[in-house]
Amino acid sequence: MSNIPFIDLSAQRDRLGTAIVDAVTNVINHGKYIMGPEVGELEAALSDFCGAGHTVSCSSGTDALMLPLMVWGVGPGDAVFVPTFTFAATAEVVALLGATPVFVDVTRDTFNMDVESLKAAISEARSRDLRPVAIIPVDLFGQPADYSAISTIAKEEDMRLLADAAQSFGAKFCDEKVGTIGDATATSFFPAKPLGCYGDGGAVFTDNDELAAGMRSLRVHGKGTHKYDNARIGLNARMDTVQAAVVLEKLKIFADEIVARKAVADRYNAALGDHLTVPVLDQRSTSAWAQYTVLAEDRDALATALKENGIPTAVYYPLPLHRQTAYRDYPAAPPGMTNSDYLSEHVISLPMHPYLEADVQDRITGAILSHLQG
Ligand SMILES: *Cc1c(COP(=O)(O)O)cnc(C)c1O
Repeated sequence: MSNIPFIDLSAQRDRLGTAIVDAVTNVINHGKYIMGPEVGELEAALSDFCGAGHTVSCSSGTDALMLPLMVWGVGPGDAVFVPTFTFAATAEVVALLGATPVFVDVTRDTFNMDVESLKAAISEARSRDLRPVAIIPVDLFGQPADYSAISTIAKEEDMRLLADAAQSFGAKFCDEKVGTIGDATATSFFPAKPLGCYGDGGAVFTDNDELAAGMRSLRVHGKGTHKYDNARIGLNARMDTVQAAVVLEKLKIFADEIVARKAVADRYNAALGDHLTVPVLDQRSTSAWAQYTVLAEDRDALATALKENGIPTAVYYPLPLHRQTAYRDYPAAPPGMTNSDYLSEHVISLPMHPYLEADVQDRITGAILSHLQG
């Protein structure tokens, strides 16, 4: 039996024909490899797509999280609230700036930040004499976090709201597109994300002029009026022109791909919904379906059975951040990270991409059902 890919980037390449090679060749020929015209074109196209006032492209999703925190001056003594059930970058940027990531549990159904746990985390930070300054909700697997409750808390507590939308660009919450929610939104163009390039890349979206200007300076070593005027201590965090050219081409089919991802998710839901815990979408949300993640009693046995049938799976994430060696000494909300601990032992993600055809998907769901029915 043939092996099924977890994400099929070659199907996307076939669809795009020579468009990407032509776009990359064009960059190689014009020679403006750093901050070439495609970078600005991509920023304008992304702003058009999501409705953000400013798009600031950068070198990765991680830098996209780092840049707004740097402009806001986040540092020692500051508490930044992050879910523990996420990729390390969400907490990493906070710790790198000398601030304290404070871990928040997630809900078992949406996998996203739990609002009661967030409130407990804020009290916990205060009891440790930390100043609550920002919340970074993560839109895990493509579904936006509960921004209506979280932004209310952010306003009450006078904190900034930075959305980690590395997995959710293309989704909506309450009819608002990801990219226009909160003070700033960070996304990633890592190849496996819904909108990926052929390397590393990222972007920050904001309506705030000052924040955008600060990030444009920081991504080029904190430049002032010109390259050799250093107004602040910054980074080398520009997006490569070649990568911008790649994303520009992929963006043309992205809306259509989001529709196709939803169709794949709907087919999984229909086939598996009575047999496994399938993803729960908040009524107010659409998802970019970066991953299709189910809960299984014995997920390792399921993974083994599927592997024998040439079907790959993945576990995002096997260990929540509060249990990682690098992060276990940072504070976590009382009474604990129960849901995240549970999820890390039961989640399993199935092949998911816009080009997953119904007959291949039947093979996947058939193998799952025959395993479950023993
Ligand atoms: C991928 C990812 C990031 C980091 O993006 P990079 O482009 O790999 O730096 C941050 N947060 C989440 C939730 C991610 O999935």
